[in-house]
Amino acid sequence: MEKRAINFKELWTKNFKEILEKESFENLGDRKLYVGSSDIAGCLRKAYLQKMNNKEISIEQSITFERGHLAEDLVKKGFGNIPFKEQYEVKNDDGSFRSHIDFLIENKYEAIIVECKSLSSSVESPYESWVLQVQFQMALLAQEKKNKKISACIVALNVNNGWHEFFWIQPNTSLQKIAMKKAEELRDAIELQIEPKAEAQGYCGLCPFNSDCPLRLNGCTHINEALKEEAKEILTLNETTKVLNERLDSLKKSFVDKLNNLEIKKLSVDNKVLSLAGGITSTSLDINAWKQGNPQSYENVLKDFSKTTTRAKYLLIR
Ligand code: SF4
Repeated sequence: MEKRAINFKELWTKNFKEILEKESFENLGDRKLYVGSSDIAGCLRKAYLQKMNNKEISIEQSITFERGHLAEDLVKKGFGNIPFKEQYEVKNDDGSFRSHIDFLIENKYEAIIVECKSLSSSVESPYESWVLQVQFQMALLAQEKKNKKISACIVALNVNNGWHEFFWIQPNTSLQKIAMKKAEELRDAIELQIEPKAEAQGYCGLCPFNSDCPLRLNGCTHINEALKEEAKEILTLNETTKVLNERLDSLKKSFVDKLNNLEIKKLSVDNKVLSLAGGITSTSLDINAWKQGNPQSYENVLKDFSKTTTRAKYLLIR
C-alpha cells in the first residue's frame, strides 16, 4: 500500500476520541462526581467501575455510543416551533443525583421529558432500563416543578431502517422508589469503594468490564443484539437443514429400495453418477461390550495404547 506522510486514520481516531471526551464533559460535567440516570438504569457494577476506573473505551464502542446522539439530532428536527430545552439538568438537593434530560418541553401546566433511544431492531414496548431512567428523571424534575403535571416520552429509532416509535411513560411511585434505591446503592458503593453486584444486561457483550465480570464467568446468557441476530440465523439454518436432511434421508432410502428391486447399481442423471454403495458385512471391536465383559484387560490395553486428542470447540444446539 502507498505510504502517506499523514496517517489520517491515526489522526482521526485521536481527534474523534478527544472531541467526544470534550463534548461529554461540556454536556454532562464530571460524571464521576454524581450518580446519573443512565448509571442506575442498568448494571450497577458497570456504572461503579466506569466511575472508579479510567478504563479507555475502544473506538468501536465510542462509535456505537454515538448512535444515541444521532437519534437526538433526528428527534430535534421534528420539534418545529415547539419551544424546548436541551440537555436540561435536574438534580437532588445535594447534587449527588443528577440527570441531563435530552429535551424538556413545558408550558404553564405541564412538563414533558423527551428521551431519545437508538436501536438496531424494533421493539413493541420500552426496555425496563429506559423506563427506570425516565422514572428517575421524573422524580428529580418533580422536586423542581412542584405544580406541573409531569410525564415522559421515549422516542426510539432505528437509524438503519427508519423504524421509530413514541412510548409514553407516566410517573410510577414504586418504580421511582426502585430507581432512587439503586442510586443510593451506587452512591454508597462509591463512598465505601465496594463493588456492587453485577446485573446482566443486553449490552454485556459491549461492556468494557465483561472480561472479569463474576456474572459472565458464571455463564451469563445476555448477549448484544448483533450476536443475538447471528444466533437466530444459525438456529433458522439449523432447523431448515434438519428438515431438508430428514427429507433427503427418506428419499434416499426409498430410492435405494427401488434401485435394488430393479437390480440397478449405477445411473447417471444431470452429469452426476448415483450408485449403490454399502451392503458389505464387516467385523469391528465392540468397545462397550469389552469394557463391561473384561474391564481389567480393557484398562491394561488403554494404559499401554491410549492417545489423547482434544476436539475443536463446536456449537451444540438443543
Ligand atoms: S458484563 Fe454485564 S453484568 Fe457484568 S459488569 Fe458488565 S454489564 Fe454488568
